[in-house]
Amino acid sequence: MIPPTEIICVECGGTATLISFLPEDGEVEVGDVLAYRCGDCLDRWDVVMEDPLDD
Ligand SMILES: [Zn+2]
Repeated sequence: MIPPTEIICVECGGTATLISFLPEDGEVEVGDVLAYRCGDCLDRWDVVMEDPLDD
C-alpha cells in the first residue's frame, strides 16, 4: 500500500507530515510503523499502517 504523506494530528487537529523514510517503491506493508510529525504541536506520531479496505 502507498501510505498517506499527511495525516490529521489527533492532538490538535493540525497536519502531521510523514518523517519516516519509505522504500524505493514508496510502498509499505500493512503492520509497518511510520512516524509522522505534527507541524502545529510538533508531536510525533508512530502510526501502524492498516489496510484501508479492511473494515
Ligand atoms: Zn498536533
